[in-house]
Amino acid sequence: MEKMKDKPLFYIEKISLFAALEFVLAFSGAGYLIPYGSATIMYIPVIAAAYLYGKGAGALIGAVFGITSIWKASMAGVSDFDALFSPFFSGNVLGSLYTALGSRILFGFTAGLIFSAAKNIKVNEYIKVITISVISQVLHACLVLMPMHFFFPEYAADNVSIKNTLISVNELIQVILISLVMAAVVYVSRNKRIAEIEKILDEGRQSYYTKRLKIEGAFFVSFLFFIILALMYHLHDMTLIVIDANNITLPNQARIMFINLQVQFLAGVAAISHIIGIFITSYRVYSVYHINNADKDLMTGLYSKSTAVDYGATVTANKKNFPDTYFIIFDIDNFKSINDTYGHLMGDKVIINTARFLEKHFGSSGLAARFGGDEFAVFVTRSLSRKDIEEKIKLFMSDTASINLGDNHEVTCSIGIVHIDKERKFDEVYKKADEMLYLVKTSGRNGYKFYEKM
Ligand code: GH3
Ligand code: MG
Repeated sequence: MEKMKDKPLFYIEKISLFAALEFVLAFSGAGYLIPYGSATIMYIPVIAAAYLYGKGAGALIGAVFGITSIWKASMAGVSDFDALFSPFFSGNVLGSLYTALGSRILFGFTAGLIFSAAKNIKVNEYIKVITISVISQVLHACLVLMPMHFFFPEYAADNVSIKNTLISVNELIQVILISLVMAAVVYVSRNKRIAEIEKILDEGRQSYYTKRLKIEGAFFVSFLFFIILALMYHLHDMTLIVIDANNITLPNQARIMFINLQVQFLAGVAAISHIIGIFITSYRVYSVYHINNADKDLMTGLYSKSTAVDYGATVTANKKNFPDTYFIIFDIDNFKSINDTYGHLMGDKVIINTARFLEKHFGSSGLAARFGGDEFAVFVTRSLSRKDIEEKIKLFMSDTASINLGDNHEVTCSIGIVHIDKERKFDEVYKKADEMLYLVKTSGRNGYKFYEKM
């Protein structure tokens, strides 16, 4: 069995989308679009899943195909041929189960095997995938028709021959259709932008925001589902009223068929709701993380200066919501000489470590940003006392002093601190902090200074 960590990103979500697609195809009639007998295109998602995610996924989606096909075949009034797929109607339970379900599972599994066997064959990916898909489509027809001949010889022998099935207009349409669909599948699966979006979604998957957006998505989808349920109930009610008003007495079997149809409709709606929910939620999670990433300094992962300045403006203008905020700026001492003595790579390491220590000591009480070069800033928005802040700064300073440059050189910082108070614009706050930083620099560096109110 494949290990979970070898599975692609969002494996369960993607498989659930394929399963939902099978339900929509089965119960919308779109899966049986081609007007020749009961020809189907339900095998296409099975082949696509087998190509994208392997034999296990192929078998699973094959099973969904099989279950819906049994369900549809078990409605009263289906043709004699379709009834062969129903273990309730065909008179041969095992034969129907195998023909409808077993052969589809085997089909998905085998298609996955063929794709993985062909993985290392060096041909154009489109040509390879389309060829295998067309072969798989023929395989599907054979895997279903052969057991049918075996289990139901009296019916199948003169009605459905493999030869007649495979040499027909219907078959030509199928080949063209699956070629087009699988070309699109290959195109999408190799699209760099989609891979990038998946990576961003993956980065955000554990976060608080993602959980919240998922809950919102679930509410939205449930709401949608219940609205459609209400619409359907009304339709059902009205249909019965119309029937009664015209003095038509429905036989019991017809009523059961109606209910079955309605359950199919609901299953289709649930599947569509699921698909919509996954797409909307993914899009929302992606937007949140895409925006956040753009606002972050790539080297350190801290917020960028522009984000911090925006934040500073918000804090300064909303003293009610941020009543007790400190703004602190940090500049590494003699950073140029670190670069010159130990090289730029070591300089980068010092910057990254400094950022890590800022996150460690101030991340949970506010927002940390890189202002550029060796300059950083922090907003402390959780009401901390001046003493708490001094303590955090000392811990931070002892951490930076421990950054190992290979000899006894200690990394130190100069730090300016302002308690945001009467300032009306963030510029004023920044200027005061900068003045304090300058005072520390000119009086020997390696220290911190609070702005004292007059
Ligand atoms: P001071 O104590 O007065 O702050 O002296 P300093 O040498 O640290 O002076 P300053 O802060 O002006 O120096 C910043 C230097 O940081 C200048 C630039 O070459 C270097 N620098 C800026 N960004 C990076 C970076 O991303 N990586 C590395 N390695 N160096 C950088
Ligand atoms: Mg510096």
